[in-house]
Amino acid sequence: MCIFCRIAAGELPASVVYEDEHAMAFLDIQPINPGHVLVIPKKHAKLLVDLPPEDAGHMMRVAQIVDRALRASELRCEGVNLFLADGRVAGQDVDHVHLHIFPRYDDDGFSLHIDEEMRKPPGRAQLDESAKMIVDAMDGLE
Ligand code: 5GP
Ligand code: ZN
Repeated sequence: MCIFCRIAAGELPASVVYEDEHAMAFLDIQPINPGHVLVIPKKHAKLLVDLPPEDAGHMMRVAQIVDRALRASELRCEGVNLFLADGRVAGQDVDHVHLHIFPRYDDDGFSLHIDEEMRKPPGRAQLDESAKMIVDAMDGLE
C-alpha cells in the first residue's frame, strides 16, 4: 500500500481536516505555508486520468470546502493556490493523486519560476496548431 493509502486506512498518523467515504484532506508534513492541505481520493490511482470521473469531481468539491475554511480561518490567508503534480516530470513525488491547497499572502516567499523564453506569447498559428492536436486527440478518446 502507498503512504497515502495507509493514511486513508488509518495505519499512519495525519492531521486530518476532512474525511468522508470517498476522500480525505490532511495537512502536508512539509507545508509551503501554515495550513497547507492535501486532498486525496480514498481510491488509489497514480494519475488524475486513472481516477473515475466521480472521484476526480469529488476531490474538487472537497477542495472547495477546504478553500472556504482556510479563508474563514485564523490562519493567514489572502488567497489560495491549488496545485496537482500529475506525473514524475510534473513534480509528483507520491504516486497517489493528491491536490495541494495552500494559503497565500503578500510576500510569503512562494513563487513559480518561469523562464524568460516562456513569457514570449506564441503567435495565433502556433496556438491553433496546439489546439488542433488536442482536439484531434479528444476525438480519438472513448
Ligand atoms: P508531490 O510532490 O507529490 O506533489 O507532493 C507530495 C507531498 O506529500 C509533499 O508536499 C510532501 O511534503 C507530502 N508528504 C509526503 N509524505 C507525507 C506523509 O507521510 N504525510 C503527509 N501528511 N504528507 C506527506
Ligand atoms: Zn495509494
